[in-house]
Amino acid sequence: MNVLNQCRQQDPGNRHQAAHSPAPQVIPTRDALLGDGMTIRRALPSAPCRMIGAWCFLDHFGPVDVTRGHGLRVGPHPHTALQTFTWPLAGEILHRDSLGYEQIIRPGQVNLMTAGRGISHSEESPGTRSSQLHGAQLWIALPEAVRHCEPAFDHYPKLPVIERDGFRITLLVGEALGEQAPTRVFTPLLSLDFMTGGEAATTLDVPAGFEFGVLMLEGQATIDSQVLHVGQLLYLGSGSDQLRVSSTSPARLLLIGGAPFGEEILMWWNFVGRSREELTRAAAEWNSGDARFGTGRGYPGERLKAPLPPWTTT
Ligand code: MN
Repeated sequence: MNVLNQCRQQDPGNRHQAAHSPAPQVIPTRDALLGDGMTIRRALPSAPCRMIGAWCFLDHFGPVDVTRGHGLRVGPHPHTALQTFTWPLAGEILHRDSLGYEQIIRPGQVNLMTAGRGISHSEESPGTRSSQLHGAQLWIALPEAVRHCEPAFDHYPKLPVIERDGFRITLLVGEALGEQAPTRVFTPLLSLDFMTGGEAATTLDVPAGFEFGVLMLEGQATIDSQVLHVGQLLYLGSGSDQLRVSSTSPARLLLIGGAPFGEEILMWWNFVGRSREELTRAAAEWNSGDARFGTGRGYPGERLKAPLPPWTTT
C-alpha cells in the first residue's frame, strides 16, 4: 500500500480500519483557475484523496455563461504519462493537438487524449458556440508498461446510454449494465454519468475490488445513505459490490472507479511521472521547445510556460 495512492481518513481514530474499506468520506472541491481565468472546482487530487483507481485529476467547470468574451481559453500545453478525458454537459470545446487533430467536442461525447511519452494541445471555446459551458475534465494515470507509448487522440461521438429506474445513465468507461464503453483505457476502470429530471432510485452492481468516487455535477442526490451536493466529492472505498443512487429532484452526477493504482506517481503542472528528475526534465524540454511535445497549430495565443518545480529552486 503506498501513501500517494491511498485515500486517507482525516480522522486519525480511523487509521486502524481496513485500508481497503474506509468509511465514505465527503471531500469538498476547491476553486482553481483554468486557462485565461475561468474559475473551476478541483476535486482531485486533494490532500485526503490523491487518486481513485487510475483517476488522478478531476476538474468540474461551469455552468458558466460564455456569450461574452472569449469563453474557455487554455493555450498550448504539454502532458506526459496520462490520458485526458473530457466530458462536456453543455457547450462546445475545440481541441487541437500536436498530432494534427482538430476536434470540436459536444455534450454526449468523450475526447480521450493519450499523452504517453509526450503531446501538446490547446482547448478553447469555438467562435460559434452555445451560451453555456459546463463539464468535467479528468486525467487517467498510465501504468508503467505503457506510459512511454506513442501519443494518440480518440474522439468518441457516441457512448452507451441506458434508461433505468428514472435515471438516464451514460457509460463512459468500462463495463456495466450489460454494456461496454468503447473508450480505450489501460487499467481496470469504470465511469458512469447519472442524470434525472426528478424522482429516481437505482442500485448498481459494481466490482468489489474497485474503489469509487462520486462528484455531484448538478442538484443533489443520495449515494448509499450520504446526501451529496455540487462542490462535493464522495470517496467510497472498495469492498462493496453494490452502489445505491437516488434523488427526489433534478440531478446529475459522475461516478468514477477503478482498481487501486498499484504504482506511486508524482504530478507536477501538467505532467505525470515517477521521479522529480523526470518532471524537471519534462518542464525544461517543454520550455525549450523540444520536439518531444510536437507543435500545435491554430491556437490564437501564446503557448503556456511550465513553472519551475519547487524542488529546483534554492
Ligand atoms: Mn490539457
